[in-house]
Amino acid sequence: MPATVHKFLSLRLKQTYTSKILFVVVENCQLLVLLWVGHLEGKLKNNELWQAVLGEIELSVSRASYVTWFKNTSLLKQSDELLVVGVSNVFIKQQFEHKFNDLVVGILKKNGVESKKIEYKICAITKSAEDNNETGASETYPASQESYTQSSGSITHDYRKGLNERYTFDNFVVGSGNEMAYAACRAVVENLGVKYNPLYLYGGVGIGKTHLIQAVGNAVIGTNSNARVVYISSDQFVKEFVAALRYKKSGDFADFYRAADVLIIDDVQFFAGKEKIQEEFFHTYNALHQANHQIIISSDKPPRDIPTLEERLRSRFIGGMTIDMQNPDFETRCAIVQTKAQTHGIDLPSDVTEFLATNIQTNIRELEGALNQLLAFCEMRELSPDLEIATGLLGSIKRPKHLTAKQVIERTARHYQVALDDILGPKRDKDIVVPRQVAMYILRSELHLSFPKIAKELGRKDHTTAIHSVDKIQKASALDSDIREAITNIRDRLYV
Ligand code: ADP
Ligand code: MG
Repeated sequence: MPATVHKFLSLRLKQTYTSKILFVVVENCQLLVLLWVGHLEGKLKNNELWQAVLGEIELSVSRASYVTWFKNTSLLKQSDELLVVGVSNVFIKQQFEHKFNDLVVGILKKNGVESKKIEYKICAITKSAEDNNETGASETYPASQESYTQSSGSITHDYRKGLNERYTFDNFVVGSGNEMAYAACRAVVENLGVKYNPLYLYGGVGIGKTHLIQAVGNAVIGTNSNARVVYISSDQFVKEFVAALRYKKSGDFADFYRAADVLIIDDVQFFAGKEKIQEEFFHTYNALHQANHQIIISSDKPPRDIPTLEERLRSRFIGGMTIDMQNPDFETRCAIVQTKAQTHGIDLPSDVTEFLATNIQTNIRELEGALNQLLAFCEMRELSPDLEIATGLLGSIKRPKHLTAKQVIERTARHYQVALDDILGPKRDKDIVVPRQVAMYILRSELHLSFPKIAKELGRKDHTTAIHSVDKIQKASALDSDIREAITNIRDRLYV
């Protein structure tokens, strides 16, 4: 391979994470590599061009519209004939095709690009830089390095860097699935470093872990503005640690974290398999714990299920207060939607609230996203949100309408491997009663049937049986992971 090409390639290869694969190609086929390099170059140009376009769009539309429609888009391809813009879902695609196309064409023209045709294509979301920075915690090391050197002057400012004031206890809706976590977080603020240390919250995506642990940080600062509170995601912690090693500042790094009054580490599962960082964190942990400084941790799983977590860290996490956060129930989801709408000054009709809460069951982040889409849509057209608009806009996420009580009961019977006739019949054996009660619970939570209707579907005369059964399963699901799993399993299969 000519030396110039080689130099050019190695430069380019540094910009990719796929250097190993590329080197194989290099050895076998120089032409392919050159094509690939050309592709990379194109990508860079696409990026710059699209950033310029987005910059102008941001100035010409409202903040809400920008965040809803434009933020997570990218330019996938650019040629004289065709420009392909990547968007994250079919709804945004339609909006671009019918509403924003002229705007995009105009701004592209201003930037010297005139393609004959623009296509909008659904692709995986690439998180924008702004998104990554949402918590303010994703500075790269040089910025952090600065903050270390300044820290002797204005220490409180630096310690707060990761906290987002948006997350408070006041705007957190307490309901099934999160009450215990909420109560523990409140107790931590009252008894810093004494009670529940460490506090370890775990649960699925988008159910409010970050919100709650940040609310602790904000509440602590609310009562003592000099408190040194650090919120950091574990992957950012890793990045800073690696950079500290590189800049030979690991002493500063350790001093900074070990001097915190409250250290909040989010998504600690990303420490898995990273021995060096676990060791560093272990020492930080010990220093803080011995000094009765508060440690708060979140994760997507309990400590025992994080693979390759050092035993000594695992046992320390388990030694504190470990709380499982679960998906919010229908009523809590409704309350969350209402609260979020009210923060936008909108009183959402209850059928719209219920529509959203029925269609997005597990992830509050998604629920919030759907609400924002709806509100932005209505804001732009000066309409009041109603069920028709919501259904039209978010129809693609709507569960199938045709789901019937019979399907729910059959699916439950199949899950528990009991005969349908038994569930509907008079038998009172435990292995029939539990599936029957679970079926009632799902009829209530998924189809929102009235209690008399639920009783009737299950062949019971008295509707108080249905009330009792739904209540029983609701309580059991908070304590019993088998019941929880059964419900999730049955529910998921209803919609495939
Ligand atoms: P996680 O960290 O568990 O993935 P987040 O804390 O980031 O989830 O929550 C996702 C979004 O949902 C945030 O905007 C958060 O404010 C909101 N949210 C989650 N649970 C609640 C709740 N109970 N009340 C109000 N907002 C909530
Ligand atoms: Mg989170």
